[in-house]
Amino acid sequence: MALLKKVLIVGGGTAGWLAACYLAKALNARDPRSVQVHLVESSNIGLLGVGEATFPSIRGTLAAIGLDERRFLVGATATYKQGIHYRHWVRPPGTPGADHFFHPFSVPSQRPGGPELLPYWLLGAAPEGMPFADAVTMQSLLVDHYRGPRRATDPDYQGPMNHAFHFDAAHFARVLAEHGQETLGVHRHLATVERTELDEHGAIARVITTELGPLTADLYVDCTGLRGALIGGVMQSPFRSRRDVLFADRAVAMQVPYEHADTPIPSYTISTAQEAGWIWDIGLQKRRGVGYVYSSRHTDTERAEQVFRSYLGPAAEGLKAMHIKFETGYRPEHWRKNCVAVGLAGGFVEPLESTGIALIELATYLLTHLLPGDTDDMERAARHFNEMMVARYDRIIDFIKMHYCLSQRRDSPFWIDNADPASIPQTLQDKLALWKQRPPHRLDFVSDLEMFMVSSWQYVLYGMEFKTDLSHSRSAYPRFDEARQEFAMIQQVAARALNDLPDHRALVEQLCAEHERRVERERGTAA
Ligand SMILES: Cc1cc2nc3c(=O)[nH]c(=O)nc-3n(C[C@H](O)[C@H](O)[C@H](O)COP(=O)(O)OP(=O)(O)OC[C@H]3O[C@@H](n4cnc5c(N)ncnc54)[C@H](O)[C@@H]3O)c2cc1C
Repeated sequence: MALLKKVLIVGGGTAGWLAACYLAKALNARDPRSVQVHLVESSNIGLLGVGEATFPSIRGTLAAIGLDERRFLVGATATYKQGIHYRHWVRPPGTPGADHFFHPFSVPSQRPGGPELLPYWLLGAAPEGMPFADAVTMQSLLVDHYRGPRRATDPDYQGPMNHAFHFDAAHFARVLAEHGQETLGVHRHLATVERTELDEHGAIARVITTELGPLTADLYVDCTGLRGALIGGVMQSPFRSRRDVLFADRAVAMQVPYEHADTPIPSYTISTAQEAGWIWDIGLQKRRGVGYVYSSRHTDTERAEQVFRSYLGPAAEGLKAMHIKFETGYRPEHWRKNCVAVGLAGGFVEPLESTGIALIELATYLLTHLLPGDTDDMERAARHFNEMMVARYDRIIDFIKMHYCLSQRRDSPFWIDNADPASIPQTLQDKLALWKQRPPHRLDFVSDLEMFMVSSWQYVLYGMEFKTDLSHSRSAYPRFDEARQEFAMIQQVAARALNDLPDHRALVEQLCAEHERRVERERGTAA
């Protein structure tokens, strides 16, 4: 039996530092008798620098590593995110019909003992024409009025509305790096890994760095981003492309300053469909992060930048665009021998629903909990880890594809190809076939394998104007009047909540100012 004593994380982006902090906290790495967590990052190789929108799981992760919320907001220049606002996804601009829908993070309202509202919404009990998300949660109304999801007095990472964050990816990595080293006992090395050497069993024996020579560990976590330097290098773990389902493989991105210092900040990501993909638009504290995700099979770089700049208008004048290549897919063996990939090194699904960082959180969580004490058990743990990751990837890919294939847009080859049944996984086709006769139910999903719960599927499905015909089972829903009252009640409570929740920008500024004051006080005390 060989005890696991040291983990070496290679790469200092979001994946590297989140993994380092989470492992160090969970394993109590500050205690020298415990597993030691080391991270090596290169000053010559930059971060990807995008990855600004997160998933609500991030709150649990940041709370678990003990990062103070105000410190995080200041350090990562973060704002709050309460969902995703989709524009022109159902039909192209200028066509009659709704031009947007909202995917909120809060689940539909459900009074104990009260009727489940979705069937009644489908049967017309909600006010006429009211979108599903607006009818069943107050979050739509709150974000339309630029409200934050919590009050300044709520405890860290809590609040009445389910939420995540938007942040600057490079700043986020930096605040995690400080926290990891100062508080959690992570050992940082500044060096570039040049090559990796294997032992006689095909496991990693050491990584060789330019500046520090060889570094050794019992487990190596590859967080080298799209390079996948270890897992795709010496470990030769193949990459399974899913470009046949999700076509986007390029992005052009820009950081756009606000025109005015007091511009209201939306607490949602705006996703606007385009001829060959979609544009994300995210409000941070001092700037917007904007990017066009597109398919290189359906447009070229010049045209993509032209479409992107026409979306941004004068705000983009004089600003340089960053071009990025990626591919949707994953390594079925994220974990091989004593090497496990976390982050882009393991895989990536295009960023429509911000699953990149959520997959990092998941991989880190799984790794921490499956980590064997005995290094001889590594392969058993790896098998389970890989099965769980693959299941998640496939389900996320189905969920993202649903946005594309339900669109009524046929105005460009990109949208026509997305509706081609040959590009729609059978698992998704089966779900959609069932949901023509009944709405999605939580039992359609195995919760431990899903990133998106039933409510997310429902919000997107009906936001995309999918039709579920309940006319044959109308008699199974006799609580029509009660449901009507529930819908009215949600609107009344929402109107009251508008007074209870603060303006989003004001909330962020207040929490940041409180942090700055605390730092000054502590400095004064120390002096
Ligand atoms: C267009 C686009 C948009 C995205 N938007 C989102 C989003 O909104 N939300 C979301 O959750 N995710 C998003 N993602 C994914 C997100 O960017 C990544 O999940 C996240 O940034 C993690 O990246 P990483 O740490 O794996 O890689 P990187 O940020 O690229 O970091 C790699 C690190 O490895 C180091 N490194 C590399 N090679 C070596 C070496 N040989 N030796 C030493 N160090 C090395 C580098 O120095 C760097 O520190 C997006 C991705 C793309 C492509």
